[in-house]
Amino acid sequence: MADIIRLLPDHVANQIAAGEVVQRPSSVVKELMENAIDAEATEIQLIVKDGGKTLIQIVDNGKGMSGTDARLSFERHATSKIQKAEDLFNLHTKGFRGEALASIAAIAHVEMVTKTEDDEIGTRIKIEGSKVVTQEVVVAPKGTSMLVKNLFFNIPARRNFLKSDQVEYRHITDEFHRISLAHPQVAFSFYNNGSDVFQLPANDFRKRIVHIFGRKTDEKLVPVEEETQVVKISGYIQKPEFAKKSRGEQFFFANNRFIKSPYLHHAILGAFEGLIRPGTHPGYFINLEVAPSTIDINIHPTKTEVKFDDEHTLYAILKSTVKHSLGQFNVIPALDFDQNQNLETPYGDQRKQVGIPQVVVDSSFNPFEDVKPIKGSSAGNYSKPSVKGWENLYAGLDAGVEGTNHSTIEFESEVVNSSIFDGENEAVDHITTTFQLRKKYIITTIKSGMVVINQSRAHQRVLYEKFLKNITIKEAVSQQLLFPLTLSFSPSEISILKEIKENLCTVGFVFGAIDEDGVEIKGVPVLVAESEVQMIMEQLMSDFQQEVPGDSFSQSDMLAKTLAKTLSVKTGETLDEVSQVKLVNDLFACKETTLSPFNKKVYIMITENDIERKFI
Ligand code: ADP
Ligand code: MG
Repeated sequence: MADIIRLLPDHVANQIAAGEVVQRPSSVVKELMENAIDAEATEIQLIVKDGGKTLIQIVDNGKGMSGTDARLSFERHATSKIQKAEDLFNLHTKGFRGEALASIAAIAHVEMVTKTEDDEIGTRIKIEGSKVVTQEVVVAPKGTSMLVKNLFFNIPARRNFLKSDQVEYRHITDEFHRISLAHPQVAFSFYNNGSDVFQLPANDFRKRIVHIFGRKTDEKLVPVEEETQVVKISGYIQKPEFAKKSRGEQFFFANNRFIKSPYLHHAILGAFEGLIRPGTHPGYFINLEVAPSTIDINIHPTKTEVKFDDEHTLYAILKSTVKHSLGQFNVIPALDFDQNQNLETPYGDQRKQVGIPQVVVDSSFNPFEDVKPIKGSSAGNYSKPSVKGWENLYAGLDAGVEGTNHSTIEFESEVVNSSIFDGENEAVDHITTTFQLRKKYIITTIKSGMVVINQSRAHQRVLYEKFLKNITIKEAVSQQLLFPLTLSFSPSEISILKEIKENLCTVGFVFGAIDEDGVEIKGVPVLVAESEVQMIMEQLMSDFQQEVPGDSFSQSDMLAKTLAKTLSVKTGETLDEVSQVKLVNDLFACKETTLSPFNKKVYIMITENDIERKFI
């Protein structure tokens, strides 16, 4: 048989390598900005258009390149940063693999203009899909400008794989945050589609954080400082009360390089344990300085995953340092976390005046009358019982069942559909008995047996359909706030807010001025209490941060889901009987009753037959 193995041509090899280095426009931004940092630039400009798909330009005032170097820099494995393998263990630069420029040039139209301090004249090189189109001498300032156009022009599959401009833009912003945070001593500017996004002067770390995440961030920061033989830790954590629903503000830098480390993240979570509300995330900006020989950054082409020699020690030091800061800055005693959550004042009631308890006798109460749903109230208001302690009546009974794991009981359920009640409207009329089990389920009887409803999921379904309807027919009712609320957000959160603002208005939000670090809220949907606004907005930002859906339908859907999730009755909340009945009725008035908006089963049915079979 003839020999069949061949060496791949360079441009093919480069395209393959590009697959690892360049996943999306933000990867180009990362590589080029890192090159500018390595070239010791003190000023770096980033310009992008259409989420970086049409244009990315990075201009630096670094040391530039000679004509020969400029040409060579696009060759694979061409680097000025290391010469021998041992150099890998003493890295002081971001790059060292010599792959970035070759990869980028293989999949885009690239134009580089560069000049060194000593040269009189600069060089311009144009490369398209690894082919040098022109190389000429030009008049240029000291430094390098890299223009990358039409990313993936020759790999349509990759280009189609890119997300919407907004999503790609968000990735670029994330990358910009990371690099500019890692190098506060360098001035950065960032322009998107012709408008000015960031102007960051050279500064210290704290001011850089504040410039990026907004003025209000300053008061949230607590310094973290520790120096040991293994590591020098510096930076800031955010006070626990500012923990957010989103994970946006969590940064580790190792030797001025942004890194991801689930392991060290865990150390920080450990230090914050018990100090933050469940479901929220602490913010942190931590610099770790270690000897270059004790860290391996070569394990992944994008170099965000690194390996430390002595991770366990690092973990312990970091955890105790963060704990120490939390204690030292008196953050801990302000909060009492040993309290039983069930005894805590509900979130919305915290600022209410405490009045003298009163016994109110309802003189019109007729114990023989059926319980009726609350008239005229909106779908969302399920009140909690006013008579506290009634559950104690059942204390003895409960104890008897203790130890039975309810989830292990297997019910044989029939195929359930929304018409579990015989007549169309029978659902509303026939519910006379409801019972709340474990502050989680509402149990009600039907002709053929009983239904066990998950209260939280049922309420999610009710609210979801209500909000979706509001959005589609634009009939939401909003309540004016007496004093408009001003909430502070980071610039990237503000940009998300602007994208979803129109839909937020259709559910009942009314906005005043939106500027770079804050938003004024003048009105909220009727179902939303003023004290919940901050939490809801944070949840929205967090959900939309992952990805803002492109079309307006999926945007509405996501909005309705988030609101339903945030505002629904939760497991652990006691509902009075009237609310229980109303919830059941509202649920069965929904278009879809079997599944929650998150595709979870809302209820199960247990027929009399099922029960009888258990007694055999
Ligand atoms: P690496 O950064 O891993 O060395 P690159 O492909 O990113 O590989 O760059 C190749 C070489 O081109 C670098 O080693 C550097 O010498 C030179 N270079 C790239 N960008 C710049 C820049 N902005 N200013 C000066 N030199 C640069
Ligand atoms: Mg590089």
